[in-house]
Parts: sequence; C-alpha cells; structure tokens
Amino acid sequence: MHQVFISYIKSHTFINRKTLLFFLTFNFLFFGLDFILAQENSFTVVLDAGHGGHDSGNRGNGYYEKKIALNIALKIGKKLEKIKGFNVIYTRKSDVFVELIQRANIANKANADLFISIHCDAFTSPKVFGAGTFVLGLHENERNFKVAQKENSVIFLEENYEKNYDGFNPNDPESVISLLLMQQTYLDQSIIAANSIQKSFVSNLKRKDRTVKQAGFVVLKYTYMPSVLVETGFLTNSSEGAYLNSSKGQTNMADALAKAIINYRDNRNASFQNTSFAEESNKVEKSNKLNEQLVFKVQIAASKKKLDLKPYNFKGLKSISRVKNERLFRYYYGSTTSYEKAKKLAQFAKKQGYKNAFIVPFLGNSKITISEALRLSK
Ligand SMILES: [Zn+2]
Repeated sequence: MHQVFISYIKSHTFINRKTLLFFLTFNFLFFGLDFILAQENSFTVVLDAGHGGHDSGNRGNGYYEKKIALNIALKIGKKLEKIKGFNVIYTRKSDVFVELIQRANIANKANADLFISIHCDAFTSPKVFGAGTFVLGLHENERNFKVAQKENSVIFLEENYEKNYDGFNPNDPESVISLLLMQQTYLDQSIIAANSIQKSFVSNLKRKDRTVKQAGFVVLKYTYMPSVLVETGFLTNSSEGAYLNSSKGQTNMADALAKAIINYRDNRNASFQNTSFAEESNKVEKSNKLNEQLVFKVQIAASKKKLDLKPYNFKGLKSISRVKNERLFRYYYGSTTSYEKAKKLAQFAKKQGYKNAFIVPFLGNSKITISEALRLSK
C-alpha cells in the first residue's frame, strides 16, 4: 500500500520535492500514527485458571477449586474480549493439567502486559472468609507461607520438578528467597494491579478485604510481567463456598475482576502518557543539585519486607544499602562514583544470582537516569 503510493508520486514528476515530502509526511501521519496508537492501546492479559485435570485444587465443602477458577477465568475473558484493544489469553480453557512453569511460559511467549492467576482458598477453620490478592515476595507470616505452600505443592505432581524449578522446595520457607529476583522488576506494577483488584472486590461486591499480601508463589516467579495471584474466597466457609460455586457468584467475581483489569490498563496508559512531562519537570529540579555527589549503586531487590543488611540475606553480598520509598524497600549493592566500576558490581551481583540486577545512579538522594548521570560525569 505504502509502496504503491510512493511510486505513484514518483511517476508524477510534476510534483516538486517539497510536495513529495509533504505527501510522505502526511502518509506517515495517516498510517504510521494509526499504527503507533493501535500498539499503545493494545493490552494483553493472561488469565490463568489455577489447577486442572488430576490436580483438583482444594476440595473445601466438597467443591472443586479447579472448576470454580476455570469458570471465573472464562467469564472474565468473555467480558474483556468484547472490549477493543484487549487481547485475552488463557493458560487453560478446559479441565486439563498444566504445569506451573508452562503457565508462565504461555504468558512470556505472548509478551503479556498482565498475568492473573485465579484460585480459591481453604483453611482449617470454617469461620475464615474473604478475598485476597498476592504478589510475589517473602512470606510476611506463617499464614501467607501456608497459602503459597498450598498453591506450590502442585509441582510434586509434575515430572522433573527438581530440574524445572531449580531445586525449589515448596515445604521450605527459606526456599522462596531464590524466587524473588525475577519478579522484582515488576513489583511496583504488580502491587498496583493487586490494589486495583482488591478495591474492586470491596467496592463492587462488598467482599471481606483480606488485602494485598506478599508470598512466594512459583507460578508468579517465572513470568516477565506484572503478575498477581487472586484467592477469590474460602471454599471451606459454608456461605462463601456456596457463593463461589454458584453461577451468580462466579459472574459477580468475574465482573469485579474484569473492571479491575480495565482500570489497571487505563491508569497504566495514562501514566505512560504523562511520563515525558514528568521527566521534563524533573530536569529543572535536578539542575539545582549539581553540587551533590553522583554515585552509582546496583539495585538487587525490592520488597515490602525490611531485611537486615547482613550478607546472609543477600547471597553473601556485602555493602548493601536500603532505601524506603512509598510501600517498598529497595536494596542496593555497592556504591561507586565510576560507571565502569558499577558495571562490574552489577556483573558480580548477577553472578551471585541476582539475574535482574541493574545500575541506578543517584545524585544526592535522588535517583536519576543513566544518560543524565553520564552527562554529569563528563
Ligand atoms: Zn489454588
């Protein structure tokens, strides 16, 4: 189409260069911009119905977690598929067994914008109820560990699990630390998505709010995108179990989740559009800080949990510093005024297992971009 248009212009030699340029620019604006807008507005969400096949999930009050999770996932998808710009991908659409790592692979292959794993909870006391959303992190307490252990134990049903999950042991609370590193890059966005979901459960459905929590879920470890795991409610609670097992309950939960996903996408798009303006205004502020020292640090982890800055918490790395920002603690390795040395520090951190370690330049206490830092250090 473009080619034909250009050769049409070329063959009409009465058109001078300026006019040609005008046509080409017009052509780009007309087709190119449209393409860019379409790309910006497309949003891929992966809906992961927990369990399936010979893994029934929890059987609280005789219900099947795998069936409820699948019904909710399919209902969310049906809603979102009708909305322009939404691309919906399922890790399963029927009652089949899918390995945890395979679920993450499906999402990674699709280059998805958001991964949502859907589950139902169970507890020894039938009194406990409510909906909660998890992001990957250190278990903050025994209960969160138990939830993750329950959802992770499925890997024992998989062949080769020791090889596939780098020796991860679901029954060992310490084993989760190795899970954290991959997802740290997406933690901020994952928490935003999780908050959007909890808000929707509470405001649209008046579900009991079990809030956003962190725990070590295997299925969230291997995804390269913001990822959350939703425990829609407790099958072991008689009224919540009956609600989740009902068609009406599943439709309501799916509606609330679909609204939360749309809300997350809309806010994300809005913040993308504002980024360039924010960067401009930052520059003005930063030019006053030229007297402050420029240092490079290597970010290795981010967590809601405040960790002691001891080498045993950081794979033996020393010189760890911690910065609290909003709800998160960020952990940095080393501090140097040389960018070249910082690169070596990052390499070493990666070798120690922090595969997503990256360099963050600071001017005084403010983070700046690498390009700004390199300009300043000239
Ligand atoms: Zn589950």
